[in-house]
Amino acid sequence: MSDSRAARAESFDRVVDLAIDSVVRPSAAPHAPAVIPSIAPESGSASRAALQVRVLGHFAIILDGKLWTGASGFAGEVGHITIDAEGLECVCGNTGCLETVASAPSIVRRARERLNRDSTSSLSRLGLNKNFTADDVAHAANEGDDFALMMIERTGKYIGTGVATVINLLNIERIVLGGGVMDAGALILNPIIQEVKRRAFLRCFEVTEIVAAKLGPDAAPIGAALLARDAAV
Ligand SMILES: [Zn+2]
Repeated sequence: MSDSRAARAESFDRVVDLAIDSVVRPSAAPHAPAVIPSIAPESGSASRAALQVRVLGHFAIILDGKLWTGASGFAGEVGHITIDAEGLECVCGNTGCLETVASAPSIVRRARERLNRDSTSSLSRLGLNKNFTADDVAHAANEGDDFALMMIERTGKYIGTGVATVINLLNIERIVLGGGVMDAGALILNPIIQEVKRRAFLRCFEVTEIVAAKLGPDAAPIGAALLARDAAV
């Protein structure tokens, strides 16, 4: 690297560090060092691949340590994998996309539909008294509400179905799932993994680590900053 490029790289590194300091470290300092290096390929393993998710629907695919953007820059629209060919119309124009059944708004919609037939859940009170959110569903699930647990597990199955498709196609090493839907923690991660195991080729599944993102909503700006740094130097 030339002296000027090295200077620009150092400058961008300082900007990224400042961004990380201001956005991440006050609340998630223990996680920051562990997650940032995962964006880069691990030394001596050119065949490694990883896939990270900022929010459900938009995946960043990293193959052999490089971001895979596709022929027109739209690679990674995993949220628009068809889950139900007869399902609801999606914002993309297709029907039954993963987003139509597994995004936060879709969880609320499905919960409302089910609550019309099941009034025993604590969510019934939420539904009657206010416009509850997917966070409320996750909270009720964490409190042990059977109905909310069922909704979260069903969502995990839908996501797992999409992830199994990704794993079969790319045979990648790691899936990092983020976004508000993952706030339910193990309650949603476990059914996701079980569904992937049920649907994916065993040889693909057994080499893929499926984890929740540690940086939460801060992962995307940090990743964008790192990409901008790499593109400029
Ligand atoms: Zn769609």
